[in-house]
Amino acid sequence: MQLPLALLDSIKDTKGFMKETFENVHAFGEQITSIRINSAKPSIANGELSMNNSIHHSSFTIHNKVPWTNSGFYLTTRPSFTFDPLFHAGNYYVQEASSMFLEQALKQTVDLTKSVKVLDLCAAPGGKSTHIQSLISKDSLLVSNEVIRSRANILKDNIIKWGCENVVITNNDPSHFSKLENYFDVIVIDAPCSGSGLFRRDANAIEEWSENNVQLCSQRQQRILADVWPALKENGILIYSTCSYSKEEDEDILDWMMGQLSVESYELSLDPQWGIVPVQSDKGAYGYRFWPDQVKGEGFFLACFQKKEGEAEADIRYKRKPEQLTKLEMEMVEKWVKTDGKDFIKYENTVYAWPTQWVKDFSFLLEQLRVIYSGVLVGELMRDKMVPDHALAMSNLVPEPIEKFELDYEQSIKFLQRKDLALETKNKGWQLFTFHHHPLGWANVLSYRVNNYYPKEMRILKDS
Ligand code: SAM
Repeated sequence: MQLPLALLDSIKDTKGFMKETFENVHAFGEQITSIRINSAKPSIANGELSMNNSIHHSSFTIHNKVPWTNSGFYLTTRPSFTFDPLFHAGNYYVQEASSMFLEQALKQTVDLTKSVKVLDLCAAPGGKSTHIQSLISKDSLLVSNEVIRSRANILKDNIIKWGCENVVITNNDPSHFSKLENYFDVIVIDAPCSGSGLFRRDANAIEEWSENNVQLCSQRQQRILADVWPALKENGILIYSTCSYSKEEDEDILDWMMGQLSVESYELSLDPQWGIVPVQSDKGAYGYRFWPDQVKGEGFFLACFQKKEGEAEADIRYKRKPEQLTKLEMEMVEKWVKTDGKDFIKYENTVYAWPTQWVKDFSFLLEQLRVIYSGVLVGELMRDKMVPDHALAMSNLVPEPIEKFELDYEQSIKFLQRKDLALETKNKGWQLFTFHHHPLGWANVLSYRVNNYYPKEMRILKDS
């Protein structure tokens, strides 16, 4: 693995850079695998983890905790996640360990017990968004945005799998957020970058790297920051991160912010054992560098700022009221979903559950942005009944009386492949199929066959 000489030369004086060990760690090419557990879907893994950090979880072994987060774990080997039903049930997210440092940034700069409005601006495929959603309080709101449409759909699938109820997914350019003046308490910008931090795990990234691209990324990062800046309220927190080693995309961006915007840099406290290198930009802003020869993770950079201008309140007027359900429609919906704290909104024939406290905000966002998903898609109204949606199965909103049927491992894989299942069930009709009591999706059991409602576009394509 020949690292670009121009990169090595450009970072040679950067704090924490040690050429020999840096090159060695790339030459050795160790692949580190880590996952983050979904605390909203407590699994066998969760229960046992609190007692013992070394357990057998489905097909793999969790043996070590990622030190800067409460929910991240390194795995001894990289299993086939595709063939683990709990992966599809949203019990965990496969995520690079350094990125999980976002948890420290949020915990140290934001009072997470309060209700906050967070924007994750560059969110696909959803690693940071699912992490943020697990950290913010239940009565908080997350807007998870991705500018590239195809990537926004992947983001949507991952948010649904995580079982979120308080997330709005948008597909907008950063400049579209400038009209949401003073709206967000927190903005996370995990910026598109030249990607040198991922060289160890993705050799193709080396081919694509160039000094010219570093410059282009740096300009784009400034543009993104300038575009979204008005949407942060006074005293709001901005968290900026990249997976690049280049100063042009890291410390220089901090200096650009210090020069152009009214900000105060935030210093985070670190445990020295973590191996993270604290740095300061020329203008004195604090940043945190992750060197793969010093942390168990890939290259990463993060910094936090507080906004020292703007206003504390936003104007959230909207024109159109969302369409409510009729009494009859509500009766169809009620048996499928817990209604506490939810408003039910009709869009064409589909029904969404929105958190009651966020109805105004959801309506406002719907008028301002290109919203592709919000709350929980409960189902589709068809004449006198409702057909439940997969998103409902993945959420925590399915009430107890709904019939559940526990599948074994082989049956679960067949179900996830959307194959036909021959089952002896006690009852007929709609049922939530589960693995280890975690919902995988819906099926309608008829007297002569089982209709598998696992979404076609999400099914496992490979044969085991
Ligand atoms: N935060 C994500 C996660 O943790 O899973 C990873 C985000 S990735 C580093 C950067 C994202 O920015 C990509 O999804 C990319 O499509 C998006 N992006 C690319 N160009 C952009 C632009 N001009 N403005 C905003 N986002 C952009």
